Amino acid sequence: MEINGARKGNSDLLRHHNRALIVNLLRHKGPLSRADLSRLTGLAPSALSRLSADLIAEGLVRELGKIPAPSGRPPVLLALNPGYASAVGVKIEKERALAARVDLLGEVQAETVVPFGDPSPGAVISAVEEAIAEVLGERTLGIGIAVSGFVDSLSGVCLFSPILGWREVEIAASVRRRFGLDVHVENDVNALTLAEARYGAGKGISDFICITVGEGLGAGIVIGGRLYRGATGGAGEFGHTLFDPQGPRCRCGERGCLELFASDQFLLREARAMGIDLEELVRRARGGDPDARGIFARLGENLGYGLKDLVNLLNPEAVVIGGERAISEGDLFLPRAAEVLREHAFAGGADGVRILRAELGEEGFLVGAAEVFVESFFAVPLG
Ligand SMILES: [Zn+2]
Repeated sequence: MEINGARKGNSDLLRHHNRALIVNLLRHKGPLSRADLSRLTGLAPSALSRLSADLIAEGLVRELGKIPAPSGRPPVLLALNPGYASAVGVKIEKERALAARVDLLGEVQAETVVPFGDPSPGAVISAVEEAIAEVLGERTLGIGIAVSGFVDSLSGVCLFSPILGWREVEIAASVRRRFGLDVHVENDVNALTLAEARYGAGKGISDFICITVGEGLGAGIVIGGRLYRGATGGAGEFGHTLFDPQGPRCRCGERGCLELFASDQFLLREARAMGIDLEELVRRARGGDPDARGIFARLGENLGYGLKDLVNLLNPEAVVIGGERAISEGDLFLPRAAEVLREHAFAGGADGVRILRAELGEEGFLVGAAEVFVESFFAVPLG
């Protein structure tokens, strides 16, 4: 009995392994014919036929129209059904919660925004739950929540978020109780980095840094094709590396953090010194005003020095740049940042580094928050 049990266990495992192989091929290379799949997996056509029939019956795989063949019977193409299951991605911002239903191919199927009045944990979590309820699908793999700040992904606790004014806020437990689903909490820039790695500018690049320039300055680090979270989830706090020990006080409590010199906070300070607001500063720079353009160039320079340190430390293949200010005004400061980086990196180490614009925009945060569950859905069981 025991031996039979073990054999049955092994054959189940093998069957699961082969199913996962087929599903992953369809995910990355689909649509494919049964003959393509047989060739790529090394499975006999009869075995492949049986497995694909099961997958079609379950609804995870579907048959597409026939493709024209020069002669003989045209092969039927098989494709993944991306709506078979979904995951929810959430982003907590300063004044609102966003949620999206993300399908198995990383496409957003439904999206919603719920504003909250004050950023007290209770108000924010109830806005988060309302947003999730609006986009929840029928077969949900889990809920991923992206939040700015220092996040302990394992316990689902936001340890410190200067933007929200949070310390030690338990996020996952309440959401898990309410929906009865797995919940994963992630730093927001890490979530964007995951999405860019899988579907955006970082696709196919095994070592890169993704930075965001907006109200703050953040970084996500991909090493060997995997997101590097650090020992306790705090890796990538690029904005709170030191730029000037005598500089102004940062919202993290320290002095002279890079974020104060290479984010909207720098532009705001400079605009105020000129007696104008940030919008006016942007307008003047766009109109060719040399002073306003000079401020953006200095932002680029400061960012370039920060990037130099990152590149010297990690030797990435590419730097992917996103975030609201980079999306809207990147042309005014990113060229200068790239110039400073190349000029000052150690031993010309930045010469081959590609500077890429993030491709996924705001939706990237939501797709990335959901991505851990999509990834685990496709994970191949280990023999
Ligand atoms: Zn700081």
